[in-house]
Amino acid sequence: DAREILQHNRDFAVILLDVVMETDSAGLDLARDIREELKIRDTRIILRTGQPGYAPELETIARYEINDYKAKSELTRIKLFTSLTSAIRSYSQIKALELSKSGLESIIKASKELLYLRGYDEFAQGVITQLTALLHLPKEGIVCVKKSRSDPLSAGDLYVIAAAGKFSACIRQPLSTLNDPNIVDSIYRAATDKKHLFFDTHTCLYFATPDEAEMIVYLNAGTEISSEEHQLLELFSHNIAACIDNVTLLEQRHEYAYRDQMLGLPNRLSFLQVVEKALQDKVEDQQVVLIDIDQFGPLNDTIGTENGDVLLKQLAKRLRHRFPNHLVARISGDTFGLLGDQESLQPEHVQAAFEKPFLCSGATHTLSGTQGRVLLHKQKTATEVIAQANVALKRAKQSLRGSFQNFHREMLLETEERVTLLQKLRQAFDDGKLYMVYQPKLSLRDGQLCGFESLMRWKDDGKFIPPLDFIPIAESSGLIVSLGEWALQTSLEAIGKLRASCDLDLSVAVNVSAVQLAQPDFIAMLDKNIKHTGTEYKWLELEITESFAMEDMTTVQALFHEIRERGARISIDDFGTGFSSLSYLEQLQVNSLKIDKSFIDRITPQNPDTRLPKTILQLGQSLALEVVAEGVETAFQEAWLKDNGCHFAQGYYFERPIDPQNIEVWLARHLEQRGSAS
Ligand code: C2E
Ligand code: CA
Ligand code: CA
Repeated sequence: DAREILQHNRDFAVILLDVVMETDSAGLDLARDIREELKIRDTRIILRTGQPGYAPELETIARYEINDYKAKSELTRIKLFTSLTSAIRSYSQIKALELSKSGLESIIKASKELLYLRGYDEFAQGVITQLTALLHLPKEGIVCVKKSRSDPLSAGDLYVIAAAGKFSACIRQPLSTLNDPNIVDSIYRAATDKKHLFFDTHTCLYFATPDEAEMIVYLNAGTEISSEEHQLLELFSHNIAACIDNVTLLEQRHEYAYRDQMLGLPNRLSFLQVVEKALQDKVEDQQVVLIDIDQFGPLNDTIGTENGDVLLKQLAKRLRHRFPNHLVARISGDTFGLLGDQESLQPEHVQAAFEKPFLCSGATHTLSGTQGRVLLHKQKTATEVIAQANVALKRAKQSLRGSFQNFHREMLLETEERVTLLQKLRQAFDDGKLYMVYQPKLSLRDGQLCGFESLMRWKDDGKFIPPLDFIPIAESSGLIVSLGEWALQTSLEAIGKLRASCDLDLSVAVNVSAVQLAQPDFIAMLDKNIKHTGTEYKWLELEITESFAMEDMTTVQALFHEIRERGARISIDDFGTGFSSLSYLEQLQVNSLKIDKSFIDRITPQNPDTRLPKTILQLGQSLALEVVAEGVETAFQEAWLKDNGCHFAQGYYFERPIDPQNIEVWLARHLEQRGSAS
């Protein structure tokens, strides 16, 4: 019977066992079974025997761990009592030892596991698991932290970083949002008292680290803690505390690696990871948008980087507000990345973030952004996605500010085509197949011819390749340096000849690319060509695009100064498409502004949009600069420009660019017509 009972319930402190029962050795047999078969080791056994002759040998006593041996006559009431109590006491000591042994083992295991958990979330989740296991409680609880360092997430308040069981929903929120005042109160109490609190229905454990981070673990069950358990808990606390600091360190490293510290946005690496994940999970309808702030570099130079940072922060905030459910990241300096569904990331929605002017140290700035867009669709890597978005972005940058471009496959083909085109361009240049054409520039006041703009032409197998296709390639490959010098020389020779054939004070405007200007020997190159062609600086005008003019202020200023000193004139080309401030123009001391054709196009009899030309003309007037309108195609435009005080114009309405072999004939006829007209 006893064996039967012990098979089902092993939790006995003492067994008082008669040696002689059914048989002479029934007691000893049972003792053997208890130890060897049932493997019950901790339970104490007291043997009792009637006759001394039945006493077991010492060897048996040792083998079966028999704790006491008493003859029947010895067992007085008082002796029985002392025997039993001492047996029970030693049993409970064994149990306590065992508990702390397994407790220690689980603490070591838990700490080891906690050390390998990455990030607060996992760690905190692990803490709930380990603590509830240690205290034999159901796995239900909350972990709150109050981090020592200024973390925007948890500033001031306790923040829930892990929750298990019925609390799962309150994860990643301030504790105050939890609507159970009892729990919230207890947690706050543990935080202010800085100690563990044990209640009937719940338990609050407090942990602090050497780095002054604090963590409160709320477990949703009361527990009566024995003093052994208490010691274990203390030990565990120390371990957890060390782990917390370790995790904090990890989090911070993670934070630095994946988050832009200034804007508090995910960075490029993080963006790539999320995009990669979206690709792997084959999430449908995912749009990637890269937004680049137009002319941010030059703006930064004018207002200073600190103010520039203020603008970036404002934009970051606007984007986050506008797209709360989408990924908003900082990809690089002034480029932001968005990831989300196509519908919400439509170009207008993104552009709307720039609608209101930006404020910074009392001044307002109107910014615009250019978008490169690509849909996630079968790309192999996130890097490929970003590269595609970048191709689209570059393309968009070629048109007006504030525009956007969707990526499509042909663009990649186009890059291959660009390589072949560059090879062909090199060949054409070497073979002398490029030539310059000259578009007359006229005074709007009296229609007088005052000069020409020289434009490069390339005819390949009888087909024209537009400069807008080959100049950028020449620029990015550096070929423009030699092309540009050749264009300058050719244009100077042409103007020399034309001037010799009439008595007009004609000049030639040569387009100069930013790449050329950046050459350290640019001025020397000018000098050389003026000398070789026997021409004069004052016959030469350099057309420089606005974007370059706004680059590095002091260098540009010095360069422009040298050019003007020599007598050449400087004109800002494509004016209005980039960013310029009044003070810039003033400091640069250029001679004229060229209103870009895209603005002239908008001067139409129906709904004319003349705001920009008007502003530019006023600007020219206040800075005493000449203003030239390019791309004039209609009488209406001419009349409007004239009425609004524009000085010069060129365009198909007056004359198309003229081939070099026809230019002298054209000039002679033009002079003849003018002569007979007057
Ligand atoms: P750009 O300097 O703004 O040149 C004006 C462009 O407008 C020229 O195009 C010209 O042919 C065109 N144009 C002039 N009047 C009209 C008009 O009434 N209607 C229309 N539709 N177009 C008109 P092109 O020659 O194709 O040159 C395009 C751009 O290529 C130029 O823009 C300039 O940025 C660049 N480029 C041309 N030649 C050179 C060069 O020798 N060196 C450099 N660096 N760039 C050049
Ligand atoms: Ca030009
Ligand atoms: Ca232009």
